[in-house]
Amino acid sequence: MTYQAFLENDFTPFDPLLLTEETEKIVCQNLSRKYTSFYCTGVYGGISTGYLCGCCLRCIFCWVSLSRDFPFKYGKFYTPKEVVNRLISNAKKKRINKLRISGGEPTICKEHLLEVLNLINETSYFFILETNGILLGHDIEFVKELKKYNNLYVRVSLKAGTPEGFQIRTGAQGKFYELPYRALQYLREAGIYFRAASMSDPRLMPKEERKRMIKKLDQIGYHDYLEEEICDPYDTSILRLNKAGWKIF
Ligand code: SF4
Repeated sequence: MTYQAFLENDFTPFDPLLLTEETEKIVCQNLSRKYTSFYCTGVYGGISTGYLCGCCLRCIFCWVSLSRDFPFKYGKFYTPKEVVNRLISNAKKKRINKLRISGGEPTICKEHLLEVLNLINETSYFFILETNGILLGHDIEFVKELKKYNNLYVRVSLKAGTPEGFQIRTGAQGKFYELPYRALQYLREAGIYFRAASMSDPRLMPKEERKRMIKKLDQIGYHDYLEEEICDPYDTSILRLNKAGWKIF
């Protein structure tokens, strides 16, 4: 099987759970995971970031580096301890107390993530888990395991309000669009601190679909703040949009 890179005009929708398995074969090795860099950035008022390889979606607006599409070409393996040491060492230099892993989907390589969280739980640092919600929505036991971390905030980024919108903009089969909403429900039931975000830039998500997204959030009992994102013209976003035949810039 050819590894799924960015979407092209005539792409065949894929199963994101199968793509997870394919990606894990490349980016996970025992408890280690592939990363390309570690640095601090100003988002969230300053956060120390580990930039990992690999995702289970292929969003056309995605800004992350090409390590998403070609994870076999990029990065090197880091153990959870090495990751946490680097995150904390960079955080100390900038005197910040927030940590995250970004650049792809952190819930891929579950055992790696849980060990990173175990180690951070022994510190006074705060961890922000930015996720597309696919694997959390698929695996309630995964969500239950997150309950034990009291220094954790989960941010679930919704990509669509309909199966059609989900398929066309993430490449994954429309029937999987429910999973991020299910993740929100599981997180609420587990009493975990979380919020929803959405890529509802009107150049990408039609107004009607946005209304359906808001209605769906309402139906599942989510009435908190929704952080709506705008697609910025990063080189990688422009490349992926062009490859998929979209022109928004
Ligand atoms: S936007 Fe997020 S979920 Fe979508 S492909 Fe990029 S890293 Fe993955």
